[in-house]
Amino acid sequence: MRPIIGITPDVGETAGRPGRPPMPRYELKQAYADAVLASGGLPVVLPYSEDETAPAEAVALCDGLVITGGAFDIPPELYGAKAGDRLGPMKRGRTAYEQRVLHAALQANKPVLGVCGGMQLLAVELGGTLWQDIRDEVPGSFDHEQKLDPREPGHPVKILEGTALEAILGVRELQVNSTHHQAVRDPGRARVCAISPDLIIEAIELPDNFALGVQWHPELLASLEHLALYRALVDKSRR
Ligand code: MN
Repeated sequence: MRPIIGITPDVGETAGRPGRPPMPRYELKQAYADAVLASGGLPVVLPYSEDETAPAEAVALCDGLVITGGAFDIPPELYGAKAGDRLGPMKRGRTAYEQRVLHAALQANKPVLGVCGGMQLLAVELGGTLWQDIRDEVPGSFDHEQKLDPREPGHPVKILEGTALEAILGVRELQVNSTHHQAVRDPGRARVCAISPDLIIEAIELPDNFALGVQWHPELLASLEHLALYRALVDKSRR
């Protein structure tokens, strides 16, 4: 049996037209599911629930999890900050559900891969904080919202020596894509395992569980190193 990998979807809405107002719609870039399939896992989408226990029950059905990203920001009060001028739109229902799912997964020691906003949520769950806007708050940082197609790399990252990420990738430097304006400021109980040349935290990990967060989108990059991250998640999720 293939390991079941739960994936949290984004939420958007259908196009409205006269007499048919827009309706909420779950959305998931196919690349996430394709990367899980290509790594030997069976992807399942996890629709949100406001129920207290449903997230933990969903996690119990899964062997591993991918917390995805999206064009939204995590509410700053979740990491003890006030909203700054450059804070983007938020998706509070989504974040609340993902927090519960992530919490349940860490409690149950299930492997987790947090991608982009999913990495930021992992940091917050572990007691960390975020930069609300890198260019505004980090002097000397470059634009991490690349203008190129996100299927092309935008900047290099340095992989820190002795980390689980280094063991997975087998390299010390990697070219990654970059589609974020926020970043992890303090990783909380996680440790930093990759940084960009302008010293932005680009990956974090929990040494004890398989809990890895990457600020880039490995599922959109075709090279084997990037698929290795999904392969590691699926392999750690085997029962
Ligand atoms: Mn970046």
